[in-house]
Amino acid sequence: MPTDLEAENAGLLQFLYSCPAGLIEFTSTGAIGMVNPAAMGLLLPIAGRTFVTNLFDVMDGCAPELRNMVCNFGAAHGAICDGHRIVTGPGERPTVLACSIVRLTHDRHVATLSDVTEQVARERRLKQAETWFASLLDGVDNVAVLSLDADGRIDAVTPSAVRQTGFAERDLLGHPFESFDRPDRATATPPYGEAIAAARRDGWHLHEGWHARADGGRYWCQRLVAARAHVGDAVSGYTLVLRAVKRQGRDTADLRRMLTRDHLTGASNRAHFFEVAERELTRSRGNGGSLALIVLDIDHFKRVNDGHGHAAGDAVLREAARRCEAELRPEDVFARIGGEEFVAFVPGATLTEAAAVAERLRLSLAREPVDAGGTRLRITGSFGCSALDGHPDATVAGLLAAADGALYRAKRDGRDRVALSDAGRAAA
Ligand code: GH3
Ligand code: MG
Ligand code: MG
Repeated sequence: MPTDLEAENAGLLQFLYSCPAGLIEFTSTGAIGMVNPAAMGLLLPIAGRTFVTNLFDVMDGCAPELRNMVCNFGAAHGAICDGHRIVTGPGERPTVLACSIVRLTHDRHVATLSDVTEQVARERRLKQAETWFASLLDGVDNVAVLSLDADGRIDAVTPSAVRQTGFAERDLLGHPFESFDRPDRATATPPYGEAIAAARRDGWHLHEGWHARADGGRYWCQRLVAARAHVGDAVSGYTLVLRAVKRQGRDTADLRRMLTRDHLTGASNRAHFFEVAERELTRSRGNGGSLALIVLDIDHFKRVNDGHGHAAGDAVLREAARRCEAELRPEDVFARIGGEEFVAFVPGATLTEAAAVAERLRLSLAREPVDAGGTRLRITGSFGCSALDGHPDATVAGLLAAADGALYRAKRDGRDRVALSDAGRAAA
């Protein structure tokens, strides 16, 4: 006869094994005691081998901060992180995991892992749509909405589209939207088909230019092609919004800024960074050039918030971004990719050159205190660099993970310093 305790343990084990969320029990050095099948399914592709023994080792490439978070957690028990996002896997469609860690006793921890890739992609699309619609509410002159099928042919029009363009519904339905939408095909940009290709790839495409009316006239228009609900990986169709505007140029510039910038610091946002980096990586591979990433994490930033308030923290972030951008060239992209984490994307640079740039950025932070609402605060940052030279097969996610790994070493070795990725990581 099993005792009550045995029965309870057996029940618990059964629950752990059938639980749809990934569960991992581990020690403070990351040694895994228990891992259920769901967690194993998520960890094995990251580990790239058929067994896992240490959680921190597995996560070193994509979330080296986990080790730090567990080590630095001061309390005897409690929640170490809740829904911490981890981006894994290479390519344009990386997997995003949400990780929560609880300390049970000083040496026992439980982590839950779940795959939130779809949710994150949905959030991103929603955010872009929201930004667009928010801008529509400002000073709308005229907006026409059309629906396109998966090939870019018009399959529904609103009365506003008929009014705005002057085309009858029968002239529009069933035709590729670009066949009526372009007054001057020879010189029109973007090239035929590019808007649909971009919307399929990025979720949306925005263009401003002259558009045709049925009577042969033309009007200045902002055009958004937004991909609709993905079925699996495929786009089911597109929504086409044509907005007639009087002012030329300015509105698109504003809108582009809203979609590509981080509102607090004015640096590029994460989505824009990935977009540029993927594009440049493809180009560099084609011409054999290099490119480099420098990730930057402000040191002991929590102390700024805790000691001087969130507003002072925000001021530090803005000033840090301003100083770094001032050190970079116009073709470099400086983006905020996390709370107090930034990345500089340096096209053309080798690892050695990136190290020199990072050193310049480091000095620009440390050189003089930041004015945070009347208080002058000394700040420093730690830097990790990775580059394409020597790793021609590297992906953006791989380069970022390699730079993160180096950043982690810079932190461990005392902060306020630059570290370089070790060979081989970037190709992972
Ligand atoms: P380390 O040197 O190891 O990087 O330590 P740290 O304190 O900088 O790192 P930690 O990750 O513990 O703390 C980062 C803090 O950044 C926690 C979070 O509250 C804060 N933070 C994130 N986003 C913002 C923001 O937009 N504004 C402000 N003021 N704080 C933010
Ligand atoms: Mg950080
Ligand atoms: Mg920090």
